[in-house]
Amino acid sequence: MRDPEHELAELSEAGLRRHLRPVDAVDPPFLTVAGRRLLNFSSNDYLGLAAHPALQDAAAEGLQRHGSGSTASRLVCGSLRIHHELEETIARLKGSEAALAFSSGYAAAVGAVTALVRRGDTVILDKLCHASLVDGARLSGATVRVYPHNKLDKLERLLASARARSGGSQRILVITESVFSMDGDRAPLEEIVTLKDRHDALLLVDEAHAVGVLGPTGQGLAEELGVADRIDLQLGTLGKAVGSAGGYLAAKRSIIDLLVNKARSFIYSTAPPPAQAAAARAGLELIAGPEGARLRERLWERLRAFAARARLPAPESAILPRVLGDNDAALAAAAALLEAGFLVPAMRFPTVPRGTARLRITISAAHGPEHLEALAKTLENLQETA
Ligand SMILES: *Cc1c(COP(=O)(O)O)cnc(C)c1O
Repeated sequence: MRDPEHELAELSEAGLRRHLRPVDAVDPPFLTVAGRRLLNFSSNDYLGLAAHPALQDAAAEGLQRHGSGSTASRLVCGSLRIHHELEETIARLKGSEAALAFSSGYAAAVGAVTALVRRGDTVILDKLCHASLVDGARLSGATVRVYPHNKLDKLERLLASARARSGGSQRILVITESVFSMDGDRAPLEEIVTLKDRHDALLLVDEAHAVGVLGPTGQGLAEELGVADRIDLQLGTLGKAVGSAGGYLAAKRSIIDLLVNKARSFIYSTAPPPAQAAAARAGLELIAGPEGARLRERLWERLRAFAARARLPAPESAILPRVLGDNDAALAAAAALLEAGFLVPAMRFPTVPRGTARLRITISAAHGPEHLEALAKTLENLQETA
């Protein structure tokens, strides 16, 4: 039988072994790790809401109103008023008929995809889609097809052949992220919407890294491009810019009702804690209001200035990758940055494709100009000594 020690040694040898790093304290944009205060460039808390007093107050109130746990699945007795309020807020902000909250974005992705498609159906994903979407597709039993990142001619060919093979009754589900989590670039959503309509397919768009960052009210790329009402399922997480935890789908009523009946990660899992749902609702309201607009403006100012200063391409999101290629180079760069007081993670296979290991820098509205200047200077020095 395979020995775990041996498997771990193999990972180490390939530069792919991972370790957890206990964080002692968080005060954005800083983290304290092993007694050292580090400037954090690794979080997805793009607006700094995870430490916002309004979210903490909401969480405290949720806790007092409903207790620390929701005690059962939503379909048993865990469907608390606060969950319904959260879903009403999501649906209103997304402009959809309905929404459904899950305990994480991962659970939302796996639950939705497996509920919507089955053997005989087809799922078509962008090559760079998040693991949660890939896992949902695999688990569903549907035929899985993948197109090279953002290559629409290939997507169109896959759509045409799936429709030709399947006749009218089978479902075809196209899945893309709006902002890609490891590259920070955007999907051509308008064109994808046109293609899925032409071939009678459903479209699921994962806005995990776009909510809070893009769109006039921070709802994401679909809002920015004005195509939200043409997307069948809008997926998101409440754990990144929203500053709490959880995931959701926004869609028309019949699709949401189908998820309530068929999404196993929803049915067979205890409802999210009340405090988490209450904080998420406060985060969503904040993002959509005037303070969210101000934070977004500040974030984009910082992003543009930093990218110019660090000679990176113009940013499309708050994620700025610096691809170094091999694992050892990325690990060495991350270690040197850590030594200098910056937490910038090295991303390796299988999170990114082999041979594209990278530093993934994320900027937040909590970073001041002086923090960004310090990182730019250190990156410059590293490059000179490399
Ligand atoms: C983080 C992420 C998820 C999962 O969301 P969680 O709430 O963290 O489980 C799903 N999709 C994408 C693209 C993500 O980046």
